[in-house]
Amino acid sequence: MIDPFGRQISYLRVSVTDRCDFRCVYCMAEDMTFLPKAEILSLEELDRVCGAFIRKGVKKLRLTGGEPLVRRNIMSLFRSLGRHLDTGALSELTVTTNGSQLARFADELKSAGVKRINVSLDTLDPEKFAAITRWGKLDQVLEGLDAAKRAGLAVKINAVALKGVNDDELDRIVGWCGEQGFDLTLIEVMPMGDIGGETRIDQYLPLSLVRGQLQRHWTLDETDYRTGGPARYYNVRETGRRIGFITPMTHNFCESCNRVRLTCTGTLYMCLGQHDSADLRAPLRASPSDTPLDAAIEEAIARKPKGHDFIIDRRHAKPAVSRHMSVTGG
Ligand code: SAM
Repeated sequence: MIDPFGRQISYLRVSVTDRCDFRCVYCMAEDMTFLPKAEILSLEELDRVCGAFIRKGVKKLRLTGGEPLVRRNIMSLFRSLGRHLDTGALSELTVTTNGSQLARFADELKSAGVKRINVSLDTLDPEKFAAITRWGKLDQVLEGLDAAKRAGLAVKINAVALKGVNDDELDRIVGWCGEQGFDLTLIEVMPMGDIGGETRIDQYLPLSLVRGQLQRHWTLDETDYRTGGPARYYNVRETGRRIGFITPMTHNFCESCNRVRLTCTGTLYMCLGQHDSADLRAPLRASPSDTPLDAAIEEAIARKPKGHDFIIDRRHAKPAVSRHMSVTGG
């Protein structure tokens, strides 16, 4: 699949549920209303849509959410998608998780063919962790990470840089990732969804500042490692691990974009930072044949926009995109 700007679309991210067992302050309001079940694609339907994308050249598939590992019977979807790894049609099956359920599922993920996982963790301080996630327990996530290591899964930690919250800890997190053998990606907070009381300007911490601070303690060697995504990567010389910086607010990274995002209701977003979407649920449910679905996918890719335009400042009090990150899974 080639979009109008000549970019090859080879990466599909699928939000398998909008529900989550955490309520991270920058991601969700505390009193979120979740979707009724009837609107959500069944695991079989998700499997079918993923299969259609894989036939069209998607090589990398990431399940996300909400929290993907809280969806009932989600391992059956991982196992089923794993068959595309066996045939070679898919190169990578992976997941982004908050880690709360990893102690239960790490082994099963590994046996389904998952090799690497992203685990979101913004702080190593139990009290801060409880304050950020509202409902989460740090111990549970650390146990999950141990289970992931034991299962042989490579781990990348994703941490959102939050002004006045974890900015004083990022040095320590770099060191801890080195000790644990984890790569790390730092993310700028993005203006997505209404989150209640706080405003983005209070949370937003430009990673250009963070990188400068980290460089006082760590030697960051530039690399040309790329995933087609927004991160710019460096090697931390002292730890031997990689660190990525996702800077949607301070850099434009759209020219190499290779991805699209499917929600759990079958809505396809061609850009994380834009409103335009395509409904794949209607064509999916319209016919047992995949012909209408295939046509809808092609029509959607032909509309992939050139890029996005996030702005956080005091004149832009409202989110740039009204949907929460949990709809598309980041
Ligand atoms: N529950 C899973 C997890 O915690 O990784 C997957 C979904 S979560 C929405 C995916 C990622 O998006 C997490 O790393 C989270 O920190 C990040 N995220 C959520 N809201 C964000 C925002 N407004 N700006 C930047 N990152 C955000």
